[in-house]
Amino acid sequence: MNEKKGAILTISGPSGCGKSTLLKEVYKDIDDYYFSISTTTRAPREGEKDGVDYFFAKKEDFLEDIQAGHFLEWAEVHGNYYGTSLKPIKEALAEGKLVIFDIDVQGHEIVRKKLNDITTSVFITTPSLNELKNRLQNRNTDSQDIIDNRVENAKHEIKYFQKYDYFIVNDDLDTASKQLVGIANVTRIKSKLFDSKLYESWIG
Ligand code: ADP
Ligand code: 5GP
Repeated sequence: MNEKKGAILTISGPSGCGKSTLLKEVYKDIDDYYFSISTTTRAPREGEKDGVDYFFAKKEDFLEDIQAGHFLEWAEVHGNYYGTSLKPIKEALAEGKLVIFDIDVQGHEIVRKKLNDITTSVFITTPSLNELKNRLQNRNTDSQDIIDNRVENAKHEIKYFQKYDYFIVNDDLDTASKQLVGIANVTRIKSKLFDSKLYESWIG
């Protein structure tokens, strides 16, 4: 009766809003999760490791994987390709894990269409566009051109926030982390995740 079904938590938000930082903060407080490592054609940033932050791929290999149907979803974001491989997600869901995606607004739309019943989503942003610019500058990982492109895209991405179940303004990191932990834990007890045969034990 209490057997856990797999669930999905999708996190989106403009580049630099603090998604990766928040996720690192909350992992210790979330049970039985699996973080989906995406494949990307973007170049690794300093300190990023292949197979940890992303699977870094050549564009031609990525395009082949699309053709072969290896992705649950993929999208072109900020001029690079990003995708979620299907196989590890299927396995993690079959094991009853909470599968966490850090994907853009296009990826979220696809996951919603394909796996709506088991998906919960949260949109994260900064208190202002200026704060987003500051964070991208201070992160010191991207050239000015890339930062400008990401800030421009942020103005488009923010239009999608009401398509998400939850909304977090990542101002104070501690407050935002607590909110994200709360959402992750609620995701596990959605009624749709429980077997409809459950009531048979009540009515005989
Ligand atoms: P994303 O994964 O959304 O692109 P990051 O997690 O890389 O964003 O965060 C971008 C920058 O903002 C990093 O330098 C990070 O240390 C900083 N940051 C994250 N959250 C906060 C916060 N609540 N207050 C101030 N700076 C933050
Ligand atoms: P970054 O280059 O800053 O790591 O990520 C840029 C954007 O790509 C972020 O909005 C992130 O959520 C998104 N992203 C990362 N992986 C995936 C993925 O597998 N699919 C999609 N659709 N977006 C992704």
